[in-house]
Amino acid sequence: MIVEIVSTGTELLLGQIVNTNAPYMARRLNEIGFDVLFQSTVGDNRVRMTQVLSTALARADIVITTGGLGPTQGDITKEVSAELLGRPMQLHAPSLENIKRFFASRRLTMPDNNIRQAMFPEGAIVLDNARGTAPGAVIEADGKTVIHLPGPPHEMEHMLENAVIPYLRERFELQGTILSKVLRTFGLGESSLEERIKDYIKNQGNPTIALLARNAEIHVRLTAKASSDAEARALIADLEGRLRAHIGEYIFGEDEDTLEAVVGRHLAAQNLTLALAESCTGGLVSSRLTDVPGSSAYLAGAVVCYSNEVKTSAVGVPAEIIAAHGAVSGETAIAMAEGIRDRFRTDLGIGITGIAGPGGAVPGKPVGLVFIAIAGPSGTKCFGYNLTGPRSFIRHRTALAALNHLRQ
Ligand code: ATP
Ligand code: MG
Repeated sequence: MIVEIVSTGTELLLGQIVNTNAPYMARRLNEIGFDVLFQSTVGDNRVRMTQVLSTALARADIVITTGGLGPTQGDITKEVSAELLGRPMQLHAPSLENIKRFFASRRLTMPDNNIRQAMFPEGAIVLDNARGTAPGAVIEADGKTVIHLPGPPHEMEHMLENAVIPYLRERFELQGTILSKVLRTFGLGESSLEERIKDYIKNQGNPTIALLARNAEIHVRLTAKASSDAEARALIADLEGRLRAHIGEYIFGEDEDTLEAVVGRHLAAQNLTLALAESCTGGLVSSRLTDVPGSSAYLAGAVVCYSNEVKTSAVGVPAEIIAAHGAVSGETAIAMAEGIRDRFRTDLGIGITGIAGPGGAVPGKPVGLVFIAIAGPSGTKCFGYNLTGPRSFIRHRTALAALNHLRQ
């Protein structure tokens, strides 16, 4: 079965966003045995999208598009394929209800534009979007399968994994089973991680191993083919066990786990409470911790103490410590961790201070210098980092590093 992936969106052509959807889809489809032989990219333009889709339909059995399912006039993917396949657009009432519910649950009235997201080429199988408003669609026409997926990667990935892959496996009667498991790692760069498991990567067979860098995490995806789920799971478990011997300390979770969820489970299981004093991360760590439902069980509160004065007045960092060592120092981080723990009466306190850049460096203290201290019942530990990269990267990495210390 020949597959063509069509990425749509003028931003892709202008280089304003990087096309991460096409490689993700290509990798997953290849893994389950489809041949992705063509990929094309086209802007939000009716004439050129018609050209690209008709070329794709002529040379591939399965055409999968991403993007252009939104409510705006520029979102035309379904209309172009409806026209090309001779299937008039029709309202799909259950989708309209879902979209209305989505708006109602946010106490918003649905703009008329959003009705377009509930319109599909006649005969389309509609794919629910659990992570957004734009449903996807599968259209079987003239021996070809056309699949439309939304552009936002987390929506596309969820729909591909949960609806499209199961559909294709059944439709094309793929034999046996294919299971994957993702081991999520933090703390080691992609090449160092690869180095540690290079023999397994070089000699991979079944399961296959794929490394994927994602927001400063590295994901290791193991995919096994077998005649039954149990057999596939056993193959994965065997390889996982061997990989863990080399990189186990960096693996913080599996599949959909996030660092903050893992930290939350750890704190809840140990019955520990936490307070934070965040300087250079400006609340990023607290924000991620509170992304987890039920985080009030362990998170007492946080102070964003950006100025020296607030470090002293709100967190209790002695002014002499800042004067002697500077706001960005291990000593200040420790005083922040101990101060917030003391004031908030928690089991753990964390203090984070650093130079996120691009300015703020002083002799001996470059941009990217960060200290993370954790105070607990058995004392205080402090970790220093020399990070590189733009401000946003340094802040993001610092937040992840802080979470990573909290899980240990
Ligand atoms: P929406 O309802 O959000 O408009 P859509 O299905 O219409 O979704 P687009 O408008 O094409 O999708 O893209 C929405 C956003 O999704 C883009 O701004 C971009 O951030 C992301 N995106 C789209 N296509 C890709 C791609 N190929 N790779 C990575 N990100 C993408
Ligand atoms: Mg859009």
